[in-house]
Amino acid sequence: MRQYTDREKGILGKIVCNQCGRELQLENGLVQEGVYVGDVQWGYFSRHDGERHRFDLCEECYERLISSFRIPVEKEDETELL
Ligand SMILES: [Zn+2]
Repeated sequence: MRQYTDREKGILGKIVCNQCGRELQLENGLVQEGVYVGDVQWGYFSRHDGERHRFDLCEECYERLISSFRIPVEKEDETELL
């Protein structure tokens, strides 16, 4: 869950993990730790047609979520770090 101090400029004031409710560390509007951003626009054949769902997960909650997967996530090494 995100709160913006300036929504038009996209400046973050607060980011909270939707799963555990922990507030993630921000510095000058930039997240200082790992965060998973869920963002889906549901389409015609879904039960949520016309809805967009967004959420944020801290790294611990993300790891808990993917550890419950029957098929593991696909991993790739990113060679270019920005
Ligand atoms: Zn969490």
